[in-house]
Amino acid sequence: MKKLNHLHWLLILLLLPGCHNNNNQQAEQKFYTSGDYYSVPKYDVHIHIFTKSPYFPESCKKDNYRLLSVNVNAPDLPPVKEQQEMALYQAKKFPGEFNYATTFSVDDWNDLGWETRVLNYLKNSFDSGAVAVKVWKNIGMTLRDKDGKFVMIDNPRFDKIIDFIAKNKITLIGHLGEPKNCWLPVDQMTVKNDREYFKSHPEYHMFLHPEFPSYEDQINARDRMLDKHPDLTFIGAHLGSLEWDVDEIAKRLDKYPNMAVETAARISHLQHQAVSNHNKVYDFFIKYQDRILYGSDLEADDKTDSLKAFQTAHDTWFGHWKFFTSDSTLTDPDVTGSFKGLHLPKEVVDKLYFKNAQKWIRGLKANQP
Ligand SMILES: [Zn+2]
Repeated sequence: MKKLNHLHWLLILLLLPGCHNNNNQQAEQKFYTSGDYYSVPKYDVHIHIFTKSPYFPESCKKDNYRLLSVNVNAPDLPPVKEQQEMALYQAKKFPGEFNYATTFSVDDWNDLGWETRVLNYLKNSFDSGAVAVKVWKNIGMTLRDKDGKFVMIDNPRFDKIIDFIAKNKITLIGHLGEPKNCWLPVDQMTVKNDREYFKSHPEYHMFLHPEFPSYEDQINARDRMLDKHPDLTFIGAHLGSLEWDVDEIAKRLDKYPNMAVETAARISHLQHQAVSNHNKVYDFFIKYQDRILYGSDLEADDKTDSLKAFQTAHDTWFGHWKFFTSDSTLTDPDVTGSFKGLHLPKEVVDKLYFKNAQKWIRGLKANQP
């Protein structure tokens, strides 16, 4: 056989990439399938585990999920100290797989010692391994000062606290404001999960409380807080309460380079937008692939049956996986009309479910088993 000279080798090398492009199998491997769900490592960065039962975190291993359990200063939940105690118990039992975001109480806002107490509480949380801090919509919606005025997140009394969080390189997760639907009558809300939530929580349905701060007031206060703390790593929970239009989220992400968003309880809004404009939602996920984290807002506590809670979690997680990975036509009980799956490339899915969590919440990486 005639020996190959340099020119032959060069020709072979030049032709090789062409062979790759024509190979269907290679092209298919750019995307995940439903079958890949169990093997791909994932984080749910917005879940509420308020129990010491090992059942839920143990079961997560099957679905390849690691958790960030988020503590909340909400009236229908156990006190924040108790939430922290449960979180620490689980974090010790499931190192690396169970992580928690601490929070702080504003119930004693009008006491002089509030700031010092909160700083001490947070210091203790960080020393114990909390990887993030959550602030909730009570700031802006229910908390009032001595004069009866609503306290918003850009209130100067929060500055010291937020500086302390930023200095410790801890991520602040903000559920501030509500979906825009909250300011509409129930029959005008775009998705069923919002209709159901506000029907059962009239105290938070702002359409019924026109004297309370407006949607714009909430968003503007959050933005002013971000203006004051440019070094803070901030994750806008629930798509930053800008769920109604991905272009609105994009504007904030462009303006605030240290801001990311997570999807908890708002995937129906993405699906709603995908009904009429699939490409717009797809393009948003491609352009901002480094800035979006997966969160669900699922819950497990001692009041609900563990088996049922996990089954619900599995079904929800799997439904979302199909929306992000497949190109099938899908429906969801919360959404009117059908929509196509986003069919995101593997590398984007890996960022959404895993890499961005470790990037935006530094402690998650440090906590790896
Ligand atoms: Zn939540």
